[in-house]
Amino acid sequence: MLRKVVISLFLLLLFVSRAWAQEGADIISLRLSRDFGFGMGANIQGTFSYRVSGPDNLVRVVFLLDGEEIGEDAEAPFRLQFRTETYALGVHTMSAEGYTNDGRTLQSNVIQRQFVSGSESTKVALWLIVPILLIAVGGRFLTSWIAGRNRANQDQPAIVGPFGGTLCPKCGRPFAMHIWGLNIGLGKYDRCPHCGKWSVVRRVHPDALYDAAQAFQDDEPETAVPTLTEEERLRKQLDDSRFDE
Ligand SMILES: [Zn+2]
Repeated sequence: MLRKVVISLFLLLLFVSRAWAQEGADIISLRLSRDFGFGMGANIQGTFSYRVSGPDNLVRVVFLLDGEEIGEDAEAPFRLQFRTETYALGVHTMSAEGYTNDGRTLQSNVIQRQFVSGSESTKVALWLIVPILLIAVGGRFLTSWIAGRNRANQDQPAIVGPFGGTLCPKCGRPFAMHIWGLNIGLGKYDRCPHCGKWSVVRRVHPDALYDAAQAFQDDEPETAVPTLTEEERLRKQLDDSRFDE
């Protein structure tokens, strides 16, 4: 009884290992290459090639589309070029059969693809390319806008801060309102960093601030900046503030 079980187990093992070994040897590998055209996931359109590799004694390969022979190659590298336009649109199954010089027939793996029309492939490509272009172009605009803002901020005092910005009623230039500005009724009592004068100011829309900043930048040559001594500057500031009251 035990002998019988051992023998049948041995035979089973032998059978399984032989089957594995055979399977390993009897397979040829098929892959699809794109020569010209469109390939996105399972969707293809254009000129493609079957490419088959197998054991050294492979002498002939037959190429199949939906199980029907569409060509053969008796010389390595085993290859068959085809155009998707030759066949109906839709899903197709590609495979190959190899013949060895010792009379064996080898089956390849199966590849499934959807043949799409030229206009369909253009559509799919557009769906993919347009968002990428939008992101690329949008990103450039955004970075140049940020760079532009930073440049403006370097050239002169900030004109919009966390407390908003305003236009100086004395000199007309824009500046960011300060945290220390005193709230008085409808406005804030704040100091203009350009002319140094204090006045009651109210928040102004950023667009108006940028326009004002631009106007001052345009009609103010950089060389014409008056150079006052520290004493003159202080006296001027004192005079100005006297008139403010
Ligand atoms: Zn001012």
